[in-house]
Amino acid sequence: MPDNAQPSTKLTNLTGVGPALAKKLARLGIYRIEDLLFLLPLRYEDRTQLVQLGALLAGQRCLVTGEVLLSETTFRGRRNLLVRISDNSGQLTLRFFHFSRSQQAQFQPGVKVSCFGEARKGPAGLEMIHPEYRILRSKQGTAVDDSLTAIYPSTEGVQQGRLRNLTEQALRRMQQSPPAELLPLSILEKLDLPSLADAIAYLHRPPPDADVDLLLAGQHPCQQRLAFEELLAHYLSLKNLRALAVSEPAPPMRAGAAELTNFVDDLPFTLTNAQQRVVDEILGDLAKPHPMMRLIQGDVGSGKTVVAAIACLKAIANGAQAAIMAPTELLAEQHFRSFSDWFRPLGIEPAWLSGSQRTVARRTALEAIASGTAQLIVGTHALFQDGVEFQNLGLVVIDEQHRFGVHQRMALREKGSGEAGQPHQLVMTATPIPRTLAMAAYADLDVSVIDELPPGRQPVTTVAIPETRRSEIVARVHSACAAGGQAYWVCPLIEESELLDYQAAEASYTMLSEALPDVRVGLVHGRMRQAEKESGMRAFKEGVIQLLVATTVIEVGVDVPNASLMIIENAERMGLSQLHQLRGRVGRGAAQSHCVLLYKPPLGRLAKSRLAVLRESNDGFLVAQRDLELRGPGELLGTRQTGLPEYRVADLVRDAGLMPSVQLAAESIQREAPDRAAAIVRRWLADANRYGKV
Ligand code: ADP
Ligand code: MG
Repeated sequence: MPDNAQPSTKLTNLTGVGPALAKKLARLGIYRIEDLLFLLPLRYEDRTQLVQLGALLAGQRCLVTGEVLLSETTFRGRRNLLVRISDNSGQLTLRFFHFSRSQQAQFQPGVKVSCFGEARKGPAGLEMIHPEYRILRSKQGTAVDDSLTAIYPSTEGVQQGRLRNLTEQALRRMQQSPPAELLPLSILEKLDLPSLADAIAYLHRPPPDADVDLLLAGQHPCQQRLAFEELLAHYLSLKNLRALAVSEPAPPMRAGAAELTNFVDDLPFTLTNAQQRVVDEILGDLAKPHPMMRLIQGDVGSGKTVVAAIACLKAIANGAQAAIMAPTELLAEQHFRSFSDWFRPLGIEPAWLSGSQRTVARRTALEAIASGTAQLIVGTHALFQDGVEFQNLGLVVIDEQHRFGVHQRMALREKGSGEAGQPHQLVMTATPIPRTLAMAAYADLDVSVIDELPPGRQPVTTVAIPETRRSEIVARVHSACAAGGQAYWVCPLIEESELLDYQAAEASYTMLSEALPDVRVGLVHGRMRQAEKESGMRAFKEGVIQLLVATTVIEVGVDVPNASLMIIENAERMGLSQLHQLRGRVGRGAAQSHCVLLYKPPLGRLAKSRLAVLRESNDGFLVAQRDLELRGPGELLGTRQTGLPEYRVADLVRDAGLMPSVQLAAESIQREAPDRAAAIVRRWLADANRYGKV
């Protein structure tokens, strides 16, 4: 990235920047002077007004000035430097714990200082602890700034003062040669957005009367201006990628109508209207000589797998190989079993490929894949690792898309390209995301929605209960199992720690085994060996185990229709979409199912509304919409889950509402000014090159 920087844009051209600082700045994603302009402040401080000491309130962060009355060091446990200042309205104490002799010497009585800090109640009236301060020279007048003070995201070893100085230099350079305005005037006018240079200048140095609340909420037109362009860049980039992909040839698949009819007729159920509609959309795509790039969104239990199976059969009937990839071994195994059940009667034996496979089995599978004897291949990420050569891959199905990113989709596409062209691609996700978000996340895909559940499903009844009533719940599990039912007990999710996840699951397992001696309890967690996990799941599926204690490894896709009760511990810590996913493991059979969300009281406001959403709705799209609205920073629908790259300015959730205009703008710019479109993508994505060629 730094390599392609023009010499004049090198950070080291700025006063005070050497190689060491440049390295630190790189950690903030700043490689060129221009990048400093896009480093937006996190918040602002108001140093444009002086507060009279007599009017100062505890808790206020502000700028004050005063004359030193006295300074002294005291020992209250540790050494303190106390400086008492006064203006003609009142007094204030400045307190320092760390100070040098020369600092101490500065505070001579009569010296004027200006300080910025938070006023707090101290032992003798208001004080400021370690304020930022400046000694004012005798004739110096007011110390107020003429704009709000930007507080930047900090990185170790780069002080705010330094960042302010650097952005100041960058802003000054910007005045000489402003960055190109890439958005057409007509669009800016229609959306009532400021120019890029104006927006940048404003956000770094807002005037004293700026609406700080609006800025903090990220809703200021100047912020929206930048977010808009960034979203546009990502959108255009995905659209380019799509245009590139669909310009490639792909094997048109038109044969096999009879095979498909027989397959569907032999299913133990009738396809829902929604499934049938999506099947038709897929078959329409597959018949074309260019690759399909389609996403199926469907709530948990909506029956996506069988739709994928029909697509696979179509590919196979046309002499191509089909591969289905799942994010975890457990899910891949489940698909392997379903596909084996469906396809064996047709004389099609699925091949299996996973990371944990033994060498011999792997070699056999690789040979079958390379020679084409394997027509259908089921597996995990291992499917697109080195050493896997397909003979004639015509269709790739990716299940549970939110764990795969765009770049992984790309890699897979590369993998499959052969003489007949690129493979068709079908992506399935059980995380329904609101339409505006889908526009941004899946701009390279066509979207089909299965918006109907198979008939006879009863909505899961959901209750939220404090964990102080755990024994009641244990009794409820007991009676459910005694009545022939099965239950899941899902253990707390401990972010980023498989080890702790596993310990929590072990503890619950022990507790439940002791409390319920006549219930057959099993345990499945992410740290188990594959075989153990599999045998645990199988035992549950076969009813040998009645109560399955599990970590969130069961989150997606696991299908045990006889399980009708789910307890989720520490539900308050989980995101809405994840809870909805988990809950989708029950309610798959004919019996009325229940989900108990155990929480640790007291519940925060956000957690309370989150649990309420689940009690009130079983509709994944609605849950996702509410998730979007309630989401706090860093929560579950973040980029990590959607597999999207990080944004510099935009927040996909906060700014999702911009997407319809982004889409329209993209179309008009691409039509009327394609070179601008390319420049927009380069400005925001050239460094990372995250979506491949731009
Ligand atoms: P998901 O969309 O969550 O992946 P699955 O494909 O696992 O859902 O389907 C859930 C269950 O519903 C499976 O047991 C599947 O066989 C069954 N199923 C799928 N389609 C239908 C249908 N049209 N009628 C009845 N059951 C169906
Ligand atoms: Mg599924």
